[in-house]
This record gives sequence, C-alpha cells and structure tokens, in this order.
Amino acid sequence: MRTLQGTPGSPGVAVAPAWIFSRAALDLPEEPVEDPDAEVERLRDSAEQVAADLDARAAKAEGELAEVLEAQAMMARDPEMIDVAAEAVRKERTPAARAVVDAGETYAEALQSSESEYMAARASDVRDVCARIARRLVGADDTFSQMSQRSVVVADELPPADVGELNRDLVAGIATAQGSRTSHTAIVARALGIPAVVGLGEVEVDPTDEIAVDGDSGQIFVQPDEKTRSEIEGRAARAEDRRRHLIERAASLEGDTRTRDGHRIEVAVNVATEVELKAGLEAGAEGVGLFRTELLYLDRTNAPSRAEQSEAVRSLLGLLDGKRLVIRTFDFGADKPVPFLNLPSEENPAMGVRGVRLARDQPELLDDQLAAIADAASSGDRIAIMAPMVATAEEARWFVERVERAEMEAEVGVMLEVPAAIFMAEEIAEVCDFLSIGTNDLTQYLFAADRQNGRLGSFQDHFAPALLRAVKTVCDAADGRAWVGVCGEAAADPLWAMVAAGLGVEELSMGPEAVLEMRVSLSESTMHGCRAAADAALQASDAGGARRAAEDALG
Ligand code: PEP
Ligand code: MG
Repeated sequence: MRTLQGTPGSPGVAVAPAWIFSRAALDLPEEPVEDPDAEVERLRDSAEQVAADLDARAAKAEGELAEVLEAQAMMARDPEMIDVAAEAVRKERTPAARAVVDAGETYAEALQSSESEYMAARASDVRDVCARIARRLVGADDTFSQMSQRSVVVADELPPADVGELNRDLVAGIATAQGSRTSHTAIVARALGIPAVVGLGEVEVDPTDEIAVDGDSGQIFVQPDEKTRSEIEGRAARAEDRRRHLIERAASLEGDTRTRDGHRIEVAVNVATEVELKAGLEAGAEGVGLFRTELLYLDRTNAPSRAEQSEAVRSLLGLLDGKRLVIRTFDFGADKPVPFLNLPSEENPAMGVRGVRLARDQPELLDDQLAAIADAASSGDRIAIMAPMVATAEEARWFVERVERAEMEAEVGVMLEVPAAIFMAEEIAEVCDFLSIGTNDLTQYLFAADRQNGRLGSFQDHFAPALLRAVKTVCDAADGRAWVGVCGEAAADPLWAMVAAGLGVEELSMGPEAVLEMRVSLSESTMHGCRAAADAALQASDAGGARRAAEDALG
C-alpha cells in the first residue's frame, strides 16, 4: 500500500479501481509482445469499441459534429489501417497500442500531403482515432463515456468541460495531481457529492491498481491493505445509509423550509457554476444566496465581455425559474486575484484595495458588471445584488446608488464581513434591502487570523462567541429595516444554523452538499428551541462551550 497526501477537495470516501484520465502525450509500451494473436484480438476489440462509442456520440450530436464523429467511426473500422497495425504486431511483435499509432501516422502523413485542404484536415481526425484506440489498449482512457465500471478517476487535472460530464453513478472518487479546494474539479466534485482529493503533486498509478480516496483527510491509498480498505468501505456504507435516511426524512418536505412551529427560514445555495446550482436545486434549495461571480474572470488575460457576463447570469436565472438570485459583484484581490487587471502588488492584500474598494477605484468595471446583469434580467426574475467588503455606511450608500443608476428591478444589499460594518449595521441597514454576513472573512478580520493560514485554523471556529455576538448585533440592528442572511461556511452547519435562526437570521446560504440536511434539520426544530440555543451559546466564553451549550439547549 502507498499513501499519498493531497488537499481535501470534496468530502467522503470511496474505494474502486483506477481510471486514468490522460490528455497528455501517450506513454506507448515498447516491450515486444509475447502472444501476437491475442494482441491482434485486443487491437480489433478496442478498435470496434472505439468505433461503437463514436457511433453513439454521433447519434446524440447534430450537424457537422455528427458528420465528423461518423467519419471517425468509419476510420476506426477501416480494415486496411487495422491490417497494417495487425501486421506489425504479428511480424515485429510490436505492442498493439504502438502499432495502431504508427499505422495512423502513416495514413495521416499521406493525407496531410494532399492538395485538398479537406483531406489534409482529416489527418488530425485519423490521429485522434488511433490515439483513442491506443489509450483504450493501455487503459489510459480520456473519455468518461467509455467508463463501464465504478472507478476512481486519476488525473493530472480535469479540464472544466470534462468535469461537467462526470457521472456520479460511475465515478466513485477523484484524485488529481493539480488543483486546490477552490479549483473547478473540487467545486464540481462537491456539488455532485463525489469524494475527491486534489493537489497530490504526482499520482503515479497503474490502470490495474485499486485506489482508496479519503476526501476528508486529503489522502489516497494505492493498493490499500485489507484494514484500510475495510475501514474505507465501512465509512462509505455508513455515509450512504445516512444519505438514504436523509432522503427519506426529506420526502415529506414540500415548498419553503419552516420550523415545526411555522417560522420560515430560507435555505439557499452558494454557487459559482451551473453544476452547483443544479445540485442545490435538486436538494431543494429555495434560491441562490451567493453567486460568486469571480470564476468568470479568474485565469483570464482579458476582461470577459458584457455579453459573456450577461449569459452567465441568464443561464442561472433560467434554472432558478423565479427563485431569488443573490449576485455578489466582483470581489477581486487577496485570495481571488485576476491577471487582466494588473493590480499593483500590496503588502497586505486581504486588507487592501479589494471588493467594493476596487469598484470605487475602477467604477467602470462595476458599471459593466451591473449593465450585464441588467441585460440578463427579464420579467419574472428575482434579482438581488450585493457588494463585498463594505466597511462603512458611506460605501453602502455609494453602492446602492450605483445599482440604482443601472436601472433594473433588484434588491440591493451588502455583505457584512468587515468588523467596522458590524458596528454600523443599523446605518447600513437603513439604506439596504438586506445584509448578508460573510462569516469566512468576518472571522478572519475579527481575529486578525489569515483564513488561508492552516496554523491559525482554530480561529476559524464559527462557534466563537465573538462571531455569535457579531451576528446578534447585526440582527438586532437590522430588525425592521433589512433582512439578514448568512453566506459564509458557518451557514452549512445545522447546529450553528439553528443558533443563527434563534438570533434572527432569516436566510442561510451554503454549498449544495449541505442543503438537504439543512432543510431536514430546520424542519425538525422549533423557533423556541433555536432561541434557547442562541441564548445559551451567547453566554459561553469560548467556542467549545458555545457549541455544547447550544446542543444542551436543543436536547
Ligand atoms: C465570506 O467571506 O464569508 C464569503 C461568503 O465570501 P468568500 O468566502 O467568497 O470571501
Ligand atoms: Mg468574503
């Protein structure tokens, strides 16, 4: 057994054979084969399977793409080309994967030298077909559609388009060399409930290896020993039982989430992508409480066009079908850098020109984003817009006025994540429709403890009485003026959510994976119990005490 340590990307555990996803250059075998007849049979089987897969894709595609796929299926069945490869296997004992790539290359070169542009363009199709056959032969397949048994996908990194194709019934787990908790792979894996470990640095495994993934600890085990395997299988079975149990309990839930004594608490979902929204809605989310818009801008050397931004908003509105979409305007800077802005480097970026401060510095950027949102909106949509990193009532007023200038039907709010804003919550609430508490940054600034610094992780405990008292201050100040939501990680913890509801929070927004359990937990609680838990937790002098006090109060 080999143990590799990476970063937890998506919680949960799984054990299954490896499925190596590789778009990189193929590592073709060199060793002469021992049984050429068997190798030729493998070659013909693989070619036929690739052809059948291409046929199936062609049937689902339309127009030119369908034609290309059909032509590729014919190439995979081309008897002449397969015979050339088979001959190399028989005569020179060349491994089939190498033989088919060589045969394809000879064809491709002939096509490439053709006078006809059309024929020359077919060269890359031939290469692609042969590479597919070769990948199949060496077990390094690059298309999930050919996955036929439950597997752990092992990859350097999964391109966004491929991640979108993941089938949660077949993909038991994911292990990638690159990536971080906020990379696309991790976001989508969490949304789909697939355990994932990312940022492993290097993952050298054979197609025949079995892999155990522990998405909670960030470890993978290659060829796990019996003890590890049965521990992982046990945890996976318990998690599955729990999921089924939750689904049963949720079956009786309909419409809005309400406590047993009838108080409505809106359970919303945090999203950066459509996949997350789909997963959240499936779990019963009543809207989006935080649309992190930065994803569209990250890793870009040019700003996305207004049309592109608008399309991203429109696609979410389409899925929401009248449910509220809370859009956070860009929060660039610190942990969310954007290359195209060429922002000057700062000593303390977390406390630098970020969020609404950057919007004030470069108002045209904000106006462009607001115009794109206005373009996307049509009647029947419920849009809310909020600014990140607001510290003063004056900033809140500036932002509200900016949104008003964009002339659209929208609620306007701000995120409360800077301590100064907590003390000014009343004045801020006077000018806003809502306040959304960002507990991730608020905790970081309350404790002056960098949220990215693992050594200071203990400060990020959302039961810290200082944070609970800040939430109470906001709820009291906003009462009757603006509604209060929470969109930081704290909102995903059912016990904390009950305390927050007891303090007066009306909306809780969380990752899609937390939505179902939250709806069930809140529906089984009472507002009376939530208030008792809040009162008890507020009295505690430390986080552990606050947690225990809340648990005791709720029985
Ligand atoms: C927060 O700070 O709590 C928050 C929700 O925003 P982000 O994590 O994107 O900074
Ligand atoms: Mg924040």
